[in-house]
Amino acid sequence: MSKSIVIIGAGLAGVTAARCLRTEGYQGTIHLIGEEPCGAYDRPCLSKELLAGKVNEPAAILGPDWSKSANITLHLAERVTEIDIANRQVRLQSGGHIPYDYVLLATGSRARRIQAEGSNLPGIHTLRTYEDANRLKDSLATAKSLVIVGGGLIGCEVATTASGLGASVTILECGDELLLRVLGRDTGKWCRNELERIGVQVERSAHALRFEGDERVRAVVCTDGRRIEADTVLVSIGAEPADDLARTAGIECQPGGGVLVDATGKSSDPSVFAAGDVAAWPLRSGERRSLETYLNSQIEAETAALAMLGKPQPSPQTQTSWTEIAGHRLQMAGDINGPGEIVVRNNEQSRSRLLFRVLDNRVEAAIAIDDPRDFSIASRLVTRGVPVSTPELADPQFSLRDFLKAKA
Ligand code: FAD
Ligand code: NAD
Repeated sequence: MSKSIVIIGAGLAGVTAARCLRTEGYQGTIHLIGEEPCGAYDRPCLSKELLAGKVNEPAAILGPDWSKSANITLHLAERVTEIDIANRQVRLQSGGHIPYDYVLLATGSRARRIQAEGSNLPGIHTLRTYEDANRLKDSLATAKSLVIVGGGLIGCEVATTASGLGASVTILECGDELLLRVLGRDTGKWCRNELERIGVQVERSAHALRFEGDERVRAVVCTDGRRIEADTVLVSIGAEPADDLARTAGIECQPGGGVLVDATGKSSDPSVFAAGDVAAWPLRSGERRSLETYLNSQIEAETAALAMLGKPQPSPQTQTSWTEIAGHRLQMAGDINGPGEIVVRNNEQSRSRLLFRVLDNRVEAAIAIDDPRDFSIASRLVTRGVPVSTPELADPQFSLRDFLKAKA
């Protein structure tokens, strides 16, 4: 009998895995099941080009006929409600079940909800899906004042876009700096200055206590009494891996969220794999967690597809991502938060900036601001573990390209 692989979640990781299974020659059945009504699309543009009105819809990750031509059974607007491990089948919300030999969990993550009085008032948004982005965009079309609760990646990207659309924007961040999780203190502070330069007001150590309003939100009140008027609010306080199907099925998950997998994507049940935001994947640093990035989700999905075909190629991950804030493009490789020394390399001429976290003469992480050329070299320093000297790294006259060539 033909084999059957069921992929739960038809987002980036789901379609990447489906495509990889076919390009690797798998001829069995593939069911790709996604609860959103449309096929996989470019999520990163939601907070950037789509909200700014530069595009009317997000680009599709694969062309309109790809599932047909790859002979993939696509179930859209369909939710999987259970993985029945004992009987090796998944249950669908619309009724019925699909048997499997392997399951790939590619359910991504969800926007974390805020526990505060008034948080259900009209005008309060979260941003994860195309539908969310359309709702927020409609709200911003008439918004005079936007308050963003949470100064991480979504908060700072939307603040950039919304202030470009003419709204008065305030970010309420509970930490003492913006963007600490992904960019660290130095770059977080740099981004705050740049956001303030384009007119965004930033309130740090601000904890939203309640939302005021009647037919619509009117203001956000913080625990210390700060009250900021708003006709639109975005809550962007982090993502939670959508791991409930795995938890209910008894598959091991990280206490803080995420399906625990090995470096091929295999979970505690050998017929269930996970990839993308939902997976707590092994990192090169030795930890296991969800990296919540586009590029890592793609690599994990391909790795899991290969493993399901019996061609395991363990792939511990190094976080790699990008963002666009206050008119700047930032690219990141590795985790900038960690032990060691931060080395800054400012290039006054090109107005670009590189930051390195160096530990024991090796670059553990790098951030490039407006410097895509040197980022490609810096990211190789991170992945190759080449010994470096910090005075040279900090010197903008020192050619990283020649240095890497010489070490190759
Ligand atoms: P998703 O893309 O979330 O796809 C998961 C899919 O599974 C969803 O469609 C969901 O509806 C579906 N699903 C969930 N549960 C079920 C179920 N039970 N049954 C059926 N279907 C289900 N990363 C970057 O590196 N750079 C960026 O600039 C960037 N910008 C971003 C901007 C925004 C606004 C957001 C929200 C994210 C951004 N990211 C960015 C992160 C990146 O988009 C994610 O890391 C990536 O989408 C993860 O892919 P995924 O397939 O794991 O999850
Ligand atoms: P995030 O983790 O980047 O930032 C959340 C921020 O909210 C943090 O700074 C945190 O301190 C703050 N916060 C938490 N609770 C708070 C509270 N009660 N009040 C005020 N502040 C609070 O998460 P996000 O910005 O919500 O993004 C969600 C997901 O989307 C993540 O997975 C992220 O990686 C992804 N994303 C990625 C990109 C990118 O890579 N460029 C862009 C947008 C979104």
